[in-house]
Amino acid sequence: SSIVAIVGRPNVGKSTIFNRLVGERISIVEDIPGVTRDRIYAEAEWLNTNFRLIDTGGIEIGDEPLLVQMREQAEVAIREADVIIFMANGREGITAADEEVAKLLFKSNKPIVLAVNKVDNPEMRDDIYEFYSLGFGEPHPISGTHGLGLGDLLDSVVDLFPERETEQVDEDVIHFSLIGRPNVGKSSLVNAILNEERVIVSDIAGTTRDAIDTNFTKDGQDYVIIDTAGMRKRGKIYETTEKYSILRALKAIERSDVVLTLIDAETGIIEQDKKIAGYAHDAGKAVVIVVNKWDTIAQHDSAIKEFEDNVRAHFQFLDYAPIVYLSAKTKKRIHTLLPKIKQASENHTKRVETNVLNDVIMDALAVNPAPSKHGNKLKVLYATQVAVQPPTFVIFVNDPELMHFSYERFLENKIREAFGFEGTPIKIYARKRS
Ligand code: GDP
Repeated sequence: SSIVAIVGRPNVGKSTIFNRLVGERISIVEDIPGVTRDRIYAEAEWLNTNFRLIDTGGIEIGDEPLLVQMREQAEVAIREADVIIFMANGREGITAADEEVAKLLFKSNKPIVLAVNKVDNPEMRDDIYEFYSLGFGEPHPISGTHGLGLGDLLDSVVDLFPERETEQVDEDVIHFSLIGRPNVGKSSLVNAILNEERVIVSDIAGTTRDAIDTNFTKDGQDYVIIDTAGMRKRGKIYETTEKYSILRALKAIERSDVVLTLIDAETGIIEQDKKIAGYAHDAGKAVVIVVNKWDTIAQHDSAIKEFEDNVRAHFQFLDYAPIVYLSAKTKKRIHTLLPKIKQASENHTKRVETNVLNDVIMDALAVNPAPSKHGNKLKVLYATQVAVQPPTFVIFVNDPELMHFSYERFLENKIREAFGFEGTPIKIYARKRS
């Protein structure tokens, strides 16, 4: 999907607008336990067009001077975005800092839409004409607090999206990527996989700005490993900066069927691990949790059990993901990884038969009758799978309001038990059908 970045000096209201534009989606994210809320990007949608929004104001750059920060943020936007929303503040008029940002954006070849925020009432609209002088055409008056003008702004943004060539993706090839904080062993694991016995590397398919793709075959299955870590290792200092690695990881995730989320057994799980794993989950990809550096753990009988309990407690939102314990260094259990990836990918694309699905749902209803609310009872009529990657089910009911979260969860578990969707999230929607 296209990427939109919001850029502007501090306090023009970037984060308020960001939250407005992604409002509903953000609240879905917040329902997932363990997923951190302070995001610098989110998925958004306007008129059936999906895009990814980056709030560059949320990119922390330590305690560097303001000007340096603004420059860095503008550079991220220029580098990553397809369209940039340049935001100013209608109450304060054009400031020197706005002009600084404008200068940076001028040099880019990216399409730019000028938004003037804090235009909370129609009388203030006359004040926005001075913003023409910034040189980005018509200023769009908006109000983050009142949610005004956002539709017109988004119309202009969406109009500027590049035409996408539909990428030819070979469905039989499994694309996967590795994510995890620095030093968890991503590069080491890429090397370990590619140097595994009977892995035949056919070619380095391409080096994009963000990743190196390598094609290989193992046991008759074709894979592409999307390696962002190797990129960083070769890169300039500018590109090794950690904040870019998140954006790089996001693009890699988008192109993946399966995402390996790495944890360092030696240092244990930290908050950052959860945040990174949350990106894979949110994208609806198949996920395998890899506990690397297993060679550093005292190998007693209950070590795996203890670690597993810990992982499950921290990553409740990934309860469907299998865990592989391995060492990129000693190669121990490396050979178990590709079969897990393959299985997760198969489950991610699996279609179940409608009649079997409905038998499973009816059995579930018999075990645990549908809930009622205010004397109205949920009636489940029938279910059907409407999509894969991830498997998505629609359950037709008399009234979707009666479908309680916990009951949906129960049905999900029954579907999982019956069809074995290990490694993939599944989605269930209740729809009205009388
Ligand atoms: P990346 O930043 O995630 O790409 O991590 P690297 O692959 O560069 O690894 C970071 C450090 O961890 C290096 O010093 C590796 O040698 C070390 N390392 C990677 N995998 C293992 C492992 O399985 N066991 C041990 N003991 N060290 C590892």
